[in-house]
Order: sequence, then C-alpha cells, then structure tokens
Amino acid sequence: AKERGRNTYQFYTEGMQDREVRRLELDKDLSEALAGDQFELHYQPQLDLITSRACSVEALIRWNHPQRGMVPPVEFIPLAEESGRIAEIGRWVIQAACRQLRAWQNTNLSHLRIAINLSGRELDQPDLPDYIGQCLLDSGVAPHQLEIELTEESFIANIEHNHEQLRRISELGVHLAIDDFGVGYSSLGYLRNFPVDLLKIDRSFITNVAQQQDDAVITRAIINLAHNLGIRVVAEGVETKEQLRFLYNHQCDLAQGYLVGRPMPARKLAEKLTQGLLP
Ligand code: C2E
Ligand code: CA
Ligand code: CA
Ligand code: CA
Repeated sequence: AKERGRNTYQFYTEGMQDREVRRLELDKDLSEALAGDQFELHYQPQLDLITSRACSVEALIRWNHPQRGMVPPVEFIPLAEESGRIAEIGRWVIQAACRQLRAWQNTNLSHLRIAINLSGRELDQPDLPDYIGQCLLDSGVAPHQLEIELTEESFIANIEHNHEQLRRISELGVHLAIDDFGVGYSSLGYLRNFPVDLLKIDRSFITNVAQQQDDAVITRAIINLAHNLGIRVVAEGVETKEQLRFLYNHQCDLAQGYLVGRPMPARKLAEKLTQGLLP
C-alpha cells in the first residue's frame, strides 16, 4: 500500500490514512528535494501600467518530484510551515532569487525586480534579515531589486517581533509587499508604521471588478488608500482585458495575472519579455 501511495497524486494531502506518517514522509522528501536540487523558481511578470513594460516578477516555487512530477506549492508549503522545514526552503528561495538577479545583470532583463513569498514562520527566525543581507552581498545585486511578499496574517500573529524583523529587512533596502490584501482579518493600523512599499489586491476582488459594483468600489478604495499613504498597488489575478482597462482607468500601478503572463521558467520569461508582454 505504501508503494502505491507513493505514486499517486495528492499523496501528501490525502494519499494515506495516517496524517502523522504522511507528514514524516513529506518532510523526508522535502529534505531530499533540497539536497537533490528538485526545486525551481518560476517567474510571473508584473506589468507596469504606465510604461506597459514588465518591471518586476513574482517568484513562485515549483517542486519537480522524481516520482510524482510537479507538486504544487499548496500541497507542501502549509505542511512545511507546520514542520518548520519552510525555514530551509525559504533560504533556498532567497538564494535562488539573488542568483537569478545576478544572472540577469548585463542582460536586457537587468532592470527586473524579483518578489519572493515569505511565510510567518520564516520571518520568525531571528537571523533572517542577516541571511538576506548576506545573500545580497554575495550575489552583488542591488537590495531594492528584491521584494518580500507577506500576508497580513503572517506578521500580525507575532507583531512586535515581526515589526522589528521587517524594519531590519527594510533597512537593507529590500521592498515589502502585503500579499492578498483585503481578505485578512487585520486592522489597517499597521499601515501607519510598517515599512510597506506595495499592496497586492487579492484576486477575489479583481475577478469581477469590471462587473460588480462592490468589487469596483473596494478596489478603487484600496488604490486611493494606498496612494494617499505613498504605497504602490499591484492587482493580482488579472485575466481579462476588461479588468486591465478598469485598473488602468483607476490608476492602479501594476497588473499581474494570466492575461499578462503565467508563471514560467527564467528562460521562457526572457523569450516572452523580448517579444513584448501584451498581444
Ligand atoms: P500567492 O503568493 O498569492 O501567489 C499567487 C498564486 O496565484 C500563484 O499560485 C499563481 O500561479 C496564481 N495566479 C497568478 N495569476 C493568476 C490568474 O490570473 N488566475 C489564477 N486563477 N491564478 C493566478 P501558485 O504558484 O500555485 O502558488 C500558490 C501559493 O503558494 C502562493 O500564493 C503562495 O502563498 C505560496 N507560495 C508559492 N511559492 C512560494 C514560496 O517560494 N515560498 C512560500 N513561503 N510560499 C510560496
Ligand atoms: Ca505572493
Ligand atoms: Ca497573492
Ligand atoms: Ca495567497
């Protein structure tokens, strides 16, 4: 039963009865994945609505499992957060992003910034700011080319400690984005004193933004709020031209979503950006 289980899709989330066994198996596989170079970053372009060019990309982790093929992040990130293995995965991501930025230096992609996702558990590590600083130094890339995406929940939980952590990361010159903005349970108070550079409007508001009055009102309000605080705005999950037109008309700064481009390997991104982003 174990052998068969190992080869079925969604093994880690529902393939076996015993949750504890499943978690141990996943943790062992993740440790092998780190050692065996099975992770890869895919990059999704963000379109600058003023210049109509890609100015940044979001790095999204992909796990190419030797037996199970591509395992999506929703299948292993939450469990890696529980086990603590996320700390090592996160460090791999930071390093891979810095290496990619370095590889893009002296190419036509040298202007791109990379945004990486960080979970609360990663931010909890006291030496994370130093680690990020060291990776930037080793790779010789400008700190402002790196962005950190965090959800509200991930830093609200441990706000005193995380505020200090984010201050230290921000002092390096790294930019901070609030991910999935608008769907959390937090207050807006943290926007007053957190070093926030970007808000990413959650996809759930964008899906019907061109049809639903409520979604349109909320989206416009988020854009105004952010701009009045000197914060730039990214719309997530942009899939149609109508959504893109709405965002352009309401001065949203950046658009990200399948319309602009799917997450893709670095080589494909280079081709796509050379051809030009939008049809
Ligand atoms: P997220 O940070 O909110 O990332 C956006 C997700 O939406 C990505 O899914 C992306 O592929 C997908 N997406 C982008 N544009 C569209 C669109 O137009 N329509 C739709 N329907 N979806 C779109 P993905 O790559 O499966 O990642 C899922 C989540 O896994 C991420 O959500 C993030 O929370 C987490 N994740 C991914 N990579 C990392 C990582 O390196 N570290 C950590 N800690 N978490 C990660
Ligand atoms: Ca994100
Ligand atoms: Ca998001
Ligand atoms: Ca999310």
